[in-house]
Amino acid sequence: MNGLPRKGVQRKIPLTLRQLTDYYRTNTPAEFARGSRKGKYMELTDSFGRRINYLRLSVTDRCNLRCRYCMPEEGVPFLPHGAILSYEELFLIARTAVSLGIEKIRVTGGEPLVRKGIVPFLARLAKLPGLRHLALTTNGLLLEEMAQGLRAAGVQRLNISLDSLQPDTFAAITRGGEVSRVMAGIAAAERAGFPPVKINMVVMRGVNDQEIIDFAALTLEKPYAVRFIEYMPTAGEPGWQELTVPGREILERIARVYPLCPVDKGESAGPAKDFRIEGAAGTLGFITPVFGHFCGDCNRIRVTATGMARGCLFSDEELDLKPFLRGGDEAGLEQALRRVVSIKQDRHRLSGEEAGHKPFDMSKVGG
Ligand code: SAM
Ligand code: SF4
Repeated sequence: MNGLPRKGVQRKIPLTLRQLTDYYRTNTPAEFARGSRKGKYMELTDSFGRRINYLRLSVTDRCNLRCRYCMPEEGVPFLPHGAILSYEELFLIARTAVSLGIEKIRVTGGEPLVRKGIVPFLARLAKLPGLRHLALTTNGLLLEEMAQGLRAAGVQRLNISLDSLQPDTFAAITRGGEVSRVMAGIAAAERAGFPPVKINMVVMRGVNDQEIIDFAALTLEKPYAVRFIEYMPTAGEPGWQELTVPGREILERIARVYPLCPVDKGESAGPAKDFRIEGAAGTLGFITPVFGHFCGDCNRIRVTATGMARGCLFSDEELDLKPFLRGGDEAGLEQALRRVVSIKQDRHRLSGEEAGHKPFDMSKVGG
């Protein structure tokens, strides 16, 4: 027995820094104790035995912010309306994906809340038989007005992107956003009865990494799930390595200030490794797309707002679903979704000799 918690049980004694680092390399406390997890294979399984049950569906490439890591400041060539899938087409993709074994859909963008008609669309998705989880990723700017409607529509969980608590830094990262609106949105989500929100911070060295401890402290009183995300070189810019703070470093910086205990998330776990500051109301997660290679546990596919399906954010291989949607070919659509799963690679190639992918804006692919 190595002192790690049983499933669903929080360990009382904080781990040492060394134990945290070892734990960090594995996936869950159960795995740490037991070795690798044996997968249950259901209908959508890729060539590496990973069960694919999660679809990220982007509904727009437009946004009311211009985050520096996601979009260029000016001259963003938005796609013409005809290029963006209609809600009917997006619904057909969702329904087909669910019939194949997708159990969770996260609606994203661009900023999904800026698309007109988003609430009725989400309400329709929420009623899809077989869909177990419906979640939304948002920058939170419009949440204050929309939280009640989203909850009533059947959205179960919200992820909110928030990279700084300081008005000036927030405005600089988002190129003009007001952090007070996001905070008001988070409060509105609580009032609307959402389960504790997930707050995603993209950590950038020299930009907002001085706020890591402040973000961790948000969980002391409130049951938020604060998740620290490694900055990814989506645009392939030179020198990106200097901006990316490895998840392990973030963890160690927090562990020097607060005692941390791992939290087991159970089978529905996402890519984050979760911890709790001893006695805190919320949890801390570490999402390490660059240095952590969570690819072994990847369970997702993505569809962009223009109907391009991809097995991986960093894959250059995309399948165009539009011909099937616009030709009324549901069997073809099903085949295409199966094919996306079958061509999923074992892992992304962001580093090392094989590094290289076509640069892209996250707002176009859907974060
Ligand atoms: N507009 C919504 C929002 O900001 O939450 C949804 C779309 S946004 C593209 C989704 C997520 O992608 C955000 O949490 C953002 O922080 C993340 N993201 C975008 N570009 C990124 C990058 N280069 N590295 C890490 N995360 C990134
Ligand atoms: Fe917009 Fe989200 Fe991209 Fe920021 S991260 S520019 S809020 S789509």
